[in-house]
Amino acid sequence: MTVTITRAGEPIGSGAADDDYDVTVVGAGVVGTAIARELARYRLRTALVEASHDIGNGTSKANTAILHTGFDADPDSLEARLVREGRHLLAAYAAESGIPVERVGALLIAWDEEQLALLPKLLAKAERNGYHAARMLGAGELAAREPHLGPGALGALEIPDESIICPWSTPLAYATQAVRAGVHLHLDCRVRHIADAGGSHLLTTSRGPLRTRYLVNAAGLHADEIDRHFGHDGFTVTPRRGQLIVFDKLARELVGHILLPVPTAAGKGVLVAPTVFGNVLLGPTSEEIDDKSATDSTADGIDFLREKGRRILPALLDEEITAVYAGLRAATGREDYRIQEYPALRYVAVGGIRSTGLTASMAIGAHVTGLLAGTGLELGAPRALPPVDLPNVGEAFPRPYRRADLIAEDPAYGTLVCHCEQVTLGEIRDALHSTIPPGSPDGLRRRTRAGSGRCQGFTCGAAVRALYEEARP
Ligand SMILES: Cc1cc2nc3c(=O)[nH]c(=O)nc-3n(C[C@H](O)[C@H](O)[C@H](O)COP(=O)(O)OP(=O)(O)OC[C@H]3O[C@@H](n4cnc5c(N)ncnc54)[C@H](O)[C@@H]3O)c2cc1C
Repeated sequence: MTVTITRAGEPIGSGAADDDYDVTVVGAGVVGTAIARELARYRLRTALVEASHDIGNGTSKANTAILHTGFDADPDSLEARLVREGRHLLAAYAAESGIPVERVGALLIAWDEEQLALLPKLLAKAERNGYHAARMLGAGELAAREPHLGPGALGALEIPDESIICPWSTPLAYATQAVRAGVHLHLDCRVRHIADAGGSHLLTTSRGPLRTRYLVNAAGLHADEIDRHFGHDGFTVTPRRGQLIVFDKLARELVGHILLPVPTAAGKGVLVAPTVFGNVLLGPTSEEIDDKSATDSTADGIDFLREKGRRILPALLDEEITAVYAGLRAATGREDYRIQEYPALRYVAVGGIRSTGLTASMAIGAHVTGLLAGTGLELGAPRALPPVDLPNVGEAFPRPYRRADLIAEDPAYGTLVCHCEQVTLGEIRDALHSTIPPGSPDGLRRRTRAGSGRCQGFTCGAAVRALYEEARP
């Protein structure tokens, strides 16, 4: 297995003709890595180029981490189909590749008579989306299932298959498998310009030129800018910010399910959800902004969430807050994905993957690969991908510090570095020497959880940074 990962300061190719790629995917978020993984099945020269120093470092690192069923999608949309297919694909893949998933189920709660009247319509919509396990709950059953709910809940729609998932392991698993199968990953590599070079595209990147026959644009918030290099003016990405609050693990016993509001024309609304790390999330907001880098949390946003949270789960507001964060949805003014192939240009644009891209990622990967074949890319016969088995970072499965067998084999798994999250020296060492090592201490945090607990790295931060610096090439 030869793995090719390049970073700032290293060449991205010798310039010889055999360094040309068959396909280049721009953007290594959860969508781009899923597409690269799917392409890795074929004997193609594939590149995955990413502006950041790590994979999954854009919107994909800051979402609500729900593996949706798609029960409430617009049944006629491409998004509905890809979410429906994607959640089955990802649930099966997670089980085999070490991505933590918990099927906690969701309760979509009606807080007034008007919302109660909408539940049967949402049930019918779920049926139209091919989801047949949803059912109505009366106020009594709802209170028994979620005893800490605020007063006034009149009933709910139960969606038993809504699940929580680790958002960070998912693109990491895809990218790891893709590079192990031969995809070249170029980090710190921003695409600045794209020119037609007669039968291929000549990309000007922050690390020099790169030539490719086919191009896939999975640049998330910047997909519209990549698209304009082809003379298109089809869509504009307007970031829709979602701020979230992460509550301490002591809050976890307050909530059993994902608690959803009845959606309105303004969006899906504010939810309360457990995480696979044992915390509780409250959010997200939904704010149209114009700055694609504005991932700050604001006092107004936090106040808004606290007010919503007080109604849903009053006791949650008495719990400690561990962290706040914000992610930007790549909204394009249309409530559907904008996935479009251009055969004459040997190009596929993957835009508008706003609120469900984590869930749909594997189905998007398969769909885009099919579109590339339709535009003339010869795929040949698929081959099996090398397996990937990521170390578990979820609370519902045995963590290394609790595994006497592992500790007996290697005492580093019994040496805690991050005491809040019980992350061991063995896990940090493994992440630093993994197929795709982190590009920053924050990337190490996403791979291991070190520093994401209640002290936010106050105690272990220096030790974790020292380990990171020591392992840097
Ligand atoms: C608040 C919030 C909550 C959400 N909740 C959920 C949820 O519960 N479940 C769910 O399924 N989905 C959810 N989503 C949606 C999901 O997070 C996104 O759909 C998904 O992360 C989009 O992935 P992406 O790969 O398209 O974009 P990104 O992750 O943003 O990746 C795009 C990448 O392209 C790179 N790039 C951009 N321009 C260039 C360039 N010129 N050259 C090279 N690289 C470039 C960027 O650096 C970035 O890494 C949520 C989103 C938000 C914001």
